[in-house]
Amino acid sequence: MAVDGTQALRLAREVLPAAITVDMIMPGLDGWDVLDALGKDPALADIPVIMLTGQGSERVAVEALKQGVADYLVKGDITAHGLCRAVEGALEQQRLRREVETAQHAMLQAHEALRESERRYRELAERVSDMISRHAPDGTILYASPAARPLFGYLPEAVTGQSVYRFIHPDDEDLLRQAYLNATTDGTRTYLIRYRLRHEEGHYVWVESTGQIIQSDQQHQIVAVTRNITERREAEQQLAFHAEELARSNRDLEQFAYVASHDLQEPLRAVNGYLRLIQRQHGEALDAGGQEKIARALRGVAYMQQLIADLLAYARLNARTAPFEAVDLDAVLATALEALAERIEARGASIQHDPLPSVRGDARQLTQVLQNLLSNALKFAREEVPPAVHLTARPVDDHWLISVQDNGIGIDPDYAERIFEIFHRLNAREEYPGTGIGLSICKRIIERHHGRLWVEPADPCGSVFLIELPRYETP
Ligand code: ADP
Repeated sequence: MAVDGTQALRLAREVLPAAITVDMIMPGLDGWDVLDALGKDPALADIPVIMLTGQGSERVAVEALKQGVADYLVKGDITAHGLCRAVEGALEQQRLRREVETAQHAMLQAHEALRESERRYRELAERVSDMISRHAPDGTILYASPAARPLFGYLPEAVTGQSVYRFIHPDDEDLLRQAYLNATTDGTRTYLIRYRLRHEEGHYVWVESTGQIIQSDQQHQIVAVTRNITERREAEQQLAFHAEELARSNRDLEQFAYVASHDLQEPLRAVNGYLRLIQRQHGEALDAGGQEKIARALRGVAYMQQLIADLLAYARLNARTAPFEAVDLDAVLATALEALAERIEARGASIQHDPLPSVRGDARQLTQVLQNLLSNALKFAREEVPPAVHLTARPVDDHWLISVQDNGIGIDPDYAERIFEIFHRLNAREEYPGTGIGLSICKRIIERHHGRLWVEPADPCGSVFLIELPRYETP
């Protein structure tokens, strides 16, 4: 209890009471001054104040209520019970006020957070280059992001409220309707479709649209992200067209090579037959020069027949193939060595090899590759040293690297790629026989096996042929 206003304020600051009862008329600071000072002090402003007024000063009391006092009591009527009730009432009022304030504060914060998140989403929607839009189930556009303009020429406000079907190619309308329908009925609630949108300038652009059905209030709505894929589609179409062209021209080429080879063989057989007939029937009548010419013509025919046989083999590469299976390259090498055994022995060649891996492929074709490479190593050997060939294999990332190294005449690096072209040879036929098709067949076979084949110079001499083949895990 304080005796005047100044003391009341001091006391209030010290004890921070739950409620304050204050007389209107006091020495020094009166009730109004105390009320004013309490309101200005943040620590005290919230404490409920009950005002005691003199009799008949109802007007004063009303003024005090306006100033924020919780209640007032007329001095003559004050009882202990009345005072208690006034304090209880004031405290209850304070509690309720605080609750309301807390609720208001929470609401304000939630509202602020909502606004912030909406602002962020809007910013996101407005910045992405894809158009983000919201539609009603009947297709009415409720929102379109500014990307509408670069996408199909319209400002968002020009399309909002319009039906999306107004802008869709008539042939694609059903596609979109069906996509909406499926997404709402089959439970996926999403769709992905490609259709044509009519640009403001009249032409159509191809778009890809991902839609998501969302529940908004009582209604479904669709949120769609739409992007321009005109260029991508054109590139895809071009690619598909070229792939088809390539496949067709490959088929034509194979067909042509096959037919040509067959048809060429027939007259060659006839030439061969007649030359032999001349040799047999008129050989003795010919002088040495004439006989040599017949012999040369026969060699030419034999070479031509070999060329045709090779061409046929090349053309058949893709046509007659076995399904891929696990192939043990050690076994493949053994078969190739067996086929070359006589030549290896005749040349006094040494062939060494590391253990070779298993790969997936066509065993017959892979045998052909190793046999061709080994045969070349024997053929293109240096005269002064017996051929020595070394095969190695090691895993590199997701493939095997197999090398076939010889100590032969080597290959000019400038021609390292050309030797894989069909009929391309670097040496005279008189010196090293052959048609120049072996390596092109090897390359095609390895490429069919999703691998690579190339050549590098070996150290100190000779060449090393490198084969890259995909690794696969044995089941
Ligand atoms: P061919 O052996 O019938 O000539 P290939 O296609 O097998 O045909 O080889 C093409 C050319 O590549 C050969 O003529 C030769 O010039 C060169 N070549 C191939 N293998 C080797 C090798 N191991 N060493 C040196 N040159 C080679």
